[in-house]
Amino acid sequence: MKTLETLGEVITTDVLVVGGGIGGLVAAVKAKEENPGLDVLIAEKQTTGWAGKATKIGGFLAFLKPGDDPDTFIDFQVRSCGFYLNDQRTLTKYVHHTNEAVQQFADWGARLAKTPDGALLSFPAFWAPGFSMTLIDIDLMRPIRARARKLGTRFLDKIHVVDLLTDGDRIAGAVGFDIVTGRFYILKAKATILANGSCGYKVRRFWVSGTGDGVAAAFRVGAEMRNAEFGNLYGHTVFQDTDSGMVGCEHLVNSAGENLKQKYLPGAGPAGVFLPIQLAIGMQREVVEGRGPIRFAPPPSEEVAHKPPVELPKLEEWMRRIQERERQYGLPSEAQREIGAPLHGETSCVKVDQDMRTTLEGLWAIGDASYAGSAVAGAMPSPPGISPGSGVMYAVISAAWAGPSAARYAAEAGPPEVDGRGVETLKQEVFAPLQREGGVQPVEAISALQDVAAPMKYNLRRSKDRLEEGLARIEAVKERLPELQAQDLHYLSKCHEVRSMTLCAELTFRAALMRTESRGFHFREDYPETDDANWLKWVILRRAGGRAGGGAAGQAGDHGGDIELSTESIPIGEYTVRPK
Ligand SMILES: Cc1cc2nc3c(=O)[nH]c(=O)nc-3n(C[C@H](O)[C@H](O)[C@H](O)COP(=O)(O)OP(=O)(O)OC[C@H]3O[C@@H](n4cnc5c(N)ncnc54)[C@H](O)[C@@H]3O)c2cc1C
Repeated sequence: MKTLETLGEVITTDVLVVGGGIGGLVAAVKAKEENPGLDVLIAEKQTTGWAGKATKIGGFLAFLKPGDDPDTFIDFQVRSCGFYLNDQRTLTKYVHHTNEAVQQFADWGARLAKTPDGALLSFPAFWAPGFSMTLIDIDLMRPIRARARKLGTRFLDKIHVVDLLTDGDRIAGAVGFDIVTGRFYILKAKATILANGSCGYKVRRFWVSGTGDGVAAAFRVGAEMRNAEFGNLYGHTVFQDTDSGMVGCEHLVNSAGENLKQKYLPGAGPAGVFLPIQLAIGMQREVVEGRGPIRFAPPPSEEVAHKPPVELPKLEEWMRRIQERERQYGLPSEAQREIGAPLHGETSCVKVDQDMRTTLEGLWAIGDASYAGSAVAGAMPSPPGISPGSGVMYAVISAAWAGPSAARYAAEAGPPEVDGRGVETLKQEVFAPLQREGGVQPVEAISALQDVAAPMKYNLRRSKDRLEEGLARIEAVKERLPELQAQDLHYLSKCHEVRSMTLCAELTFRAALMRTESRGFHFREDYPETDDANWLKWVILRRAGGRAGGGAAGQAGDHGGDIELSTESIPIGEYTVRPK
């Protein structure tokens, strides 16, 4: 049997953080603050602190300002957003940590919007009673990266982490490869925190880093998943073919000039920039029934461009550049432009407890990897989860819980034993696409997968027939995964991404097929009613037969093994907010 050292670069650490986005950085900071003596290593596919979603835009932060009413907010979130699928204990804990998280940003030196007299600018979150919003600048990651470095966190960049290592029933780190040099890495760790985001199927450019690698890796070693059916966010309307310009919901018209908000959300208050499911389904119906395309038609006086926020220079500069680019490329004026509602996906279903522990010993999952799985948001893809402005907040808060918890575990745990044979199998699987002469190109597989994950007819306006048709198409992609061929290391990374994305799509579709009711962002045309009598339950998914043994996470070519579905009753009797 080969030793680990002959198989690749072996790095041993106390706490391994997979993903150096905002969640990963904060988890590392908090682990170090808990126990400065521990070695903490971040392994990041791109560049720690410069990658992930929070670098795309800081923007909104939703929080409980002193004087706000947590009970009103929680009541609203459970009844009107999560539709009772929330873990109300974790939600309550989360809500009470939000103000501290905003203060923490200020302490780290991130730029928050201020009033002229220097106080934090905040305003009521009009879509969520009892809660407030503030704004943060785009460069919010920089001070956190600096803090992590100052505390002695090690950064290992350009490492695509593929699979998790096991030592018996315990997670023992991860393996991956350097996307520049092709070196194989064996990262042995006492505690591992997955902070590598959700799955967005590469449909929207800003969301492209989310390929569900952490969700898939956790599933392959036997971790439970929860709320996977809510991995179907169609978050905003945007100008068709531009992927930019969130146009909101107020002024959308069909080809007959009917206002769609009035048609599908009669009597609703201001809708904000996020797209409610009733309106999304209505838009799809309009197009299917021949009343498309949908256009943006504000009254002339309201034809506004992006309004810059206050005193956030990076955000203002970003918005100015977008407007300049649109002028440069001669896009038509905003009024009457055709709009679309592309998929964000946001599959984030790794099941976690209140400390962000997964169901496997030694493994935590935070941020966009576990937002839905934490059940903080309930029957809603996340983010926007409990409300717009919660993506960054959940990442930071869940990291602040996971970091210290993982550090305490690592301080007590012995060094993990990792079996060389299992690692050798994993290495062969990792590099197999490079060995093939011909086969399926990852771009082909990604495109085939997008054709089923993205259309609303499969993933939003669901029915048994269409979900089964979608699953058959996912199955067809899955069958060809063992034929994936990579021309170079860049494409090797894409091969593993599509492997993860295929599994995420299957998790979402299988969970959606099981839930025979409509609730929140899960709409079944064949079961249009919410069924509290039978469905106050979470759908739980795990790999059939539990985890793969021998330190290996999967078998050659498979994308995770068969899926076992079950349900878990929500302890609604123990919660404060219950159906009336
Ligand atoms: C355009 C845009 C606007 C947004 N606006 C807001 C807003 O206004 N307010 C708000 O609260 N939220 C907003 N969000 C959401 C918010 O940015 C995310 O919820 C948040 O960044 C999640 O943090 P995370 O660290 O969990 O994941 P990510 O930010 O996705 O970071 C994950 C990291 O893991 C790395 N990674 C992925 N796979 C691997 C792998 N296999 N191996 C190693 N590393 C890997 C990625 O490169 C990335 O650096 C916005 C998101 C986008 C895209």
